[in-house]
Amino acid sequence: TAGTRLDAYHFYDDEWESYEQLRESFEWEVPDRFNMATYVCDRWAEDKGRVALFAEDEDGNTATYTFWQLRNITNQLANHLRERGVEPGDRIGVNTPQRPAAVIAHVACWKLGAMSVPLSTLFGPDAVGYRLADCDAVAAVVDESNAETLREARTDLPDLETVLTVGDVDRRDDETDLWDAIEDYSREFEPVETDPEDDAVLIYTSGTTGDPKGVRHAHRMLLGHLPLFITTFGNVDLQAGDVFWTPAEWAWIASLFDVVVPALFYGKPVVAYNGGQFDPETAFDLLERYGVTNFFAPPTALRMMMQVEETDGYDVGSLRAIASGGESLGETIADWAGETFDGAVVHEGYGQTEANLLVGECTALAESREGSMGLPGPGHEIAIVDPDTAEATVESGEVGEIAVRYENDPVCFKEYWNKPAKTERKVRNGWLLTEDLGTMDDDGYVSFKSRKDDVIISAGYRIGPEEVEDSIAGHDAVADAAVIGVPDDERGEVPKAFVVLSSGRNPSDALRTAIREHVRERLAKYEYPREIEFVDELPKTATGKVRRASLEDS
Ligand code: ATP
Ligand code: MG
Repeated sequence: TAGTRLDAYHFYDDEWESYEQLRESFEWEVPDRFNMATYVCDRWAEDKGRVALFAEDEDGNTATYTFWQLRNITNQLANHLRERGVEPGDRIGVNTPQRPAAVIAHVACWKLGAMSVPLSTLFGPDAVGYRLADCDAVAAVVDESNAETLREARTDLPDLETVLTVGDVDRRDDETDLWDAIEDYSREFEPVETDPEDDAVLIYTSGTTGDPKGVRHAHRMLLGHLPLFITTFGNVDLQAGDVFWTPAEWAWIASLFDVVVPALFYGKPVVAYNGGQFDPETAFDLLERYGVTNFFAPPTALRMMMQVEETDGYDVGSLRAIASGGESLGETIADWAGETFDGAVVHEGYGQTEANLLVGECTALAESREGSMGLPGPGHEIAIVDPDTAEATVESGEVGEIAVRYENDPVCFKEYWNKPAKTERKVRNGWLLTEDLGTMDDDGYVSFKSRKDDVIISAGYRIGPEEVEDSIAGHDAVADAAVIGVPDDERGEVPKAFVVLSSGRNPSDALRTAIREHVRERLAKYEYPREIEFVDELPKTATGKVRRASLEDS
């Protein structure tokens, strides 16, 4: 029922002596009936002034939404969608930038027992069309940034009957303004009493290694995110006045389910900034103006913020914790962030769309170790398994595949949408296989080595491209770098680097030599890039991850 606290997830109220102690005593608490909407929205509504969202757009227009307002609006939208024929289990695309309508659409879907499908605004018609067709979506919410994209995709989407728009859209007859649509509907709606195992979200992987896969998650997934939200994103600490923000698009699981949804679960406000492309100076400005306390940014965004020269003028003293992940964070970024945000901790986290947030740092209770992403989160059983047999036979310190115990971990996905063969390969011997290689030391610290597909084998040595990239990025002439293996007669493969230089620096052979030496001095002798190509930019996914496969083709 609303108002239930779910005590297991309020463990930050306790005083812990060690992370180990916390891990040992933590147990999942999954109610028999569980609808995310109740927990992230309705249960806070009685406290009428409680703020859920601070919204701001590029022109500086601001708005504040309380939980009470969200409750009422999502009820109206749920009533409207029900009348339009949306039924439990139906899929609804949510394709807007960070604006309140996105949260409203998700919560209304969950109240109906329908599935929301978060989509990136960077997608073109093919990408949007592929996903909405793959899941036979019946409705979608868009704004002016991509209404046209959806129109182009819609010619091949016969099931998509309802399109609601927000913002400044020059609407067609088969589109309705969301605010107009809900106006006459009741503010009362009884959320569908879902089983924790019922479908809630269909979210697509980044497509870094191939076609994106639809990942089917149940309502319980929210609970699976809470322990590491508290340890890694909160450093076992939540306080009155906390404000959360991430520049990452809410279409990504780490952004939506590690920031927005858990923050709302705990009744904390989130900044919704709809300001177009990421701008590092604006990021500093927002952190200052909203007094952001908890900040999540992917490594690419932090790397861009690193290029901002004058940061002393920003008062970002309210920041307590910066979390990052999605790709290797690397020591270079962590050192910079630690210095720039004096007093704020920098925590790396690790997970994937299929099981997001499995491992992370929590410096309040456990020291951080160089090269490691931290410790398994409370409630998650992590092992390094043999990549061929999926048996947990790999010794500590040895490289194997990172895996998580699949049963009884609410963070794990149900299956891939329409891809049974892929699901079967993903879950073996009771383990969800991450397709990432890594190590675990005697104390349980997990280190990322590379994606299974990306590892470079050179003269018998296994080289993870991420480590080499981080080392190259530490050279002061370098803004960004990507490393792949290229064929070599003698060594089988050798690392090749694609390097983007910082502004004002020019390519030269001397610089090539300097970068090689820089890496050689820091990493193992066999790891330095034999070839270096200077490029203007790197091919990236919408989430900012390097598509190494496209570099191989180039
Ligand atoms: P696809 O599965 O479609 O190829 P993807 O794996 O990039 O795309 P996501 O689920 O968004 O899609 O990303 C999860 C992956 O990101 C992880 O499996 C891992 O390879 C990488 N990753 C996440 N966190 C970290 C981290 N802290 N360090 C290194 N890599 C990370
Ligand atoms: Mg993946």
